[in-house]
Amino acid sequence: MARKVLVLGEARDGQLRNVSFEAIAAAKTVAEGGEVVGVLIGESVNSLGNDLYQYGADKVVAVEDAKLSQYTPDGYSQALMAVIEQENPEGIIFGHTSLGKDLAPKIASKLGSGLISDAVAVEEAGGNLVFTRPIYSGKAFEKKIVTDGLVFATIRPNNIAPLEKDAGKSGEVSTVSAEIKDLRTIIKDVVRKATEGVDLSEAKVVVAGGRGVKSEEGFEPLKELADVLGGAVGASRGACDADYCDYSLQIGQTGKVVTPDLYIAAGISGAIQHLAGMSNSKVIVAINKDSEANIFKVADYGIVGDLFEVIPMLTEEFKKL
Ligand code: FAD
Repeated sequence: MARKVLVLGEARDGQLRNVSFEAIAAAKTVAEGGEVVGVLIGESVNSLGNDLYQYGADKVVAVEDAKLSQYTPDGYSQALMAVIEQENPEGIIFGHTSLGKDLAPKIASKLGSGLISDAVAVEEAGGNLVFTRPIYSGKAFEKKIVTDGLVFATIRPNNIAPLEKDAGKSGEVSTVSAEIKDLRTIIKDVVRKATEGVDLSEAKVVVAGGRGVKSEEGFEPLKELADVLGGAVGASRGACDADYCDYSLQIGQTGKVVTPDLYIAAGISGAIQHLAGMSNSKVIVAINKDSEANIFKVADYGIVGDLFEVIPMLTEEFKKL
């Protein structure tokens, strides 16, 4: 059944996040030959329209308003509801980001719709749209079929490949008018914690350190390896609790969930709560002094050794490539 599917283009620092392009690829599957409509919301976002076209959107609409310069659940839901009213879609796809996790349930409840959250795959099988999502902290996967009504889902970053970019493509961005009013939250200022390098939740390579890193300085070799690989640094809660690094780096059940192509765990024991955040990474390399460490049970490659010897060796080897 051909459907019209909306995809929210999520911008940060004036650029669309990669998950927006992954969402377009998911939306193409859901649309089953129908139309994929990219949606931009913000103060001046029209210039991002071509990016959505280049990754496969068939049409792009935007709601622009100074009150939408920062994300607020009220403002964005008013904007999106105006788009939904105009476009009348049969499907909606968001990234399973902080924004998507906040906004999607709000919209679903306004529409009286179900929501499949945190999907890692979607396919057409036997006449049904089948979504796959991890359960029990990534230890199992369940399949969800939408039998009726709106197909509304959020997709986990880094799992659904975006379509190939067609750099020559461009198109119109049509404006949807929405009255943004009675906002209960007004954001006056955003103070960003200085973070270096690649965004952890979207990184293709993550080099994560645990209590075995032993100090803040102990993270330096990990940062160097991450730089060489174009990746991001992450951490276990053990390392965060010990004040070796900031909690924004924490991966796990109560931290970020990451699914990079390569996850290097150094000096991390592999507690169940840590595995919850990284066990679905495509390739896992564990470095630990203790050959019995639990992390080796989920690792594709294990190195029993001192991370302060192994990590610099890896960095030197990768520099040669
Ligand atoms: P440890 O368990 O102390 O492991 C350190 C490892 O480093 C050891 O295996 C050791 O052999 C190795 N090592 C030491 N020196 C070296 C060296 N020189 N070279 C190589 N290896 C070395 N944890 C998370 O990570 N994320 C979460 O989101 C999270 N949420 C939690 C939620 C709850 C409700 C609870 C109760 C716990 C949670 N935890 C979480 C904590 C979790 O249970 C573990 O305590 C934590 O993951 C341990 O961190 P670690 O592996 O760095 O430290």
